Amino acid sequence: MEEKSGPMEKIAILIETRQGEIKPSLYGVITAAQDAEHELLALAFGADTARFADQLKPYGIHHLVTITAPSARSFSNPDNRARAIIRAMDHFDIRTLFALTSLAGKDLLPRIAARLDAPLVMDCLAVNLVDSTVEKPQFSEKTIATIRVTGHHRIFGIRPNMIEPKTMPVETETVVFNYQGTADDRLEVVETRQGKSGAIDLSEAEIIISGGRGMKNGENFQILQECAQVMGAAVGASRVAVDNGWVPHSMQVGQTGTTVCPKLYIACGISGSIQHFAGMKTAGTIVCINTDPDAAMMQQCDYGIAGDLFKIIPALTRQLKAHR
Ligand SMILES: Cc1cc2nc3c(=O)[nH]c(=O)nc-3n(C[C@H](O)[C@H](O)[C@H](O)COP(=O)(O)OP(=O)(O)OC[C@H]3O[C@@H](n4cnc5c(N)ncnc54)[C@H](O)[C@@H]3O)c2cc1C
Repeated sequence: MEEKSGPMEKIAILIETRQGEIKPSLYGVITAAQDAEHELLALAFGADTARFADQLKPYGIHHLVTITAPSARSFSNPDNRARAIIRAMDHFDIRTLFALTSLAGKDLLPRIAARLDAPLVMDCLAVNLVDSTVEKPQFSEKTIATIRVTGHHRIFGIRPNMIEPKTMPVETETVVFNYQGTADDRLEVVETRQGKSGAIDLSEAEIIISGGRGMKNGENFQILQECAQVMGAAVGASRVAVDNGWVPHSMQVGQTGTTVCPKLYIACGISGSIQHFAGMKTAGTIVCINTDPDAAMMQQCDYGIAGDLFKIIPALTRQLKAHR
């Protein structure tokens, strides 16, 4: 691969993995960066990520750069990851970086932007590379701002699940970049534990099943957990469920919780307040299970099931298990 002053501008996409595999929402990020005028590079941590080349080929990634370091442990420190990415960007003359607006992205991208003194826009819905503008929701999704970024570098965090992945097949070459920088050992992640909402981060989940006051207590969330496990979903909640101490705040969806954008959102015993709706209204399909057919969520959803969630959810779980 040509380093520095190549014919086409290079754009990098930071690969994120879950349980050793590329996160499905990452393909939408690649699609946001795709165009015929640029050379696309994927940056991935660890020598074992070389196996991703076949998965990235259909999406227009010309080069997969696997970033390695003498001690794999040094990459558990997000500051070291940021330094390694900056070195790789400099080495390959990359001035534009795309990544997911995920928990990891929110941790990493500001570190990179601060070190590069680069403009950073998180939660982008669309990026126009030609005029260097992005679209981003503001004020609890009430407005969409178009923001122009200028500067030597540009960094974009893309909202998960907003952009439908499109293929653009090319040949993908794998390149190893050995990061030799000094490791910052002031911070080390010693343990990562799974939160109650499950292994899937709410903001990136493709399917979310959420419970509200209608769940009646914290123990009853177990029926949502069981259903979520069968569907590969994350479990969310309304603020009432959080304020009552039934579930942690990390599970709250809405204006003062997490903004989510799943393909499927199932609201159980949630009335549909404007504050809750603000956090999930961009979901692809909304299903509402509520005993009150006149609840606001029943009017706003794609499919409403008027009934008792304590009968419907276990029946749904049984059916899903039977058809697995
Ligand atoms: C500044 C501010 C910020 C806020 N931020 C948020 C936020 O981020 N997220 C959020 O969620 N809220 C937020 N709220 C709170 C919001 O206004 C609502 O109070 C809250 O969303 C209501 O939660 P709920 O739908 O679970 O409860 P309720 O409104 O009480 O609705 C419970 C629903 O459960 C149904 N139900 C009861 N039993 C059953 C059953 N057995 N089966 C099926 N359905 C049943 C009922 O018919 C009812 O519709 C905020 C409020 C303010 C003022």
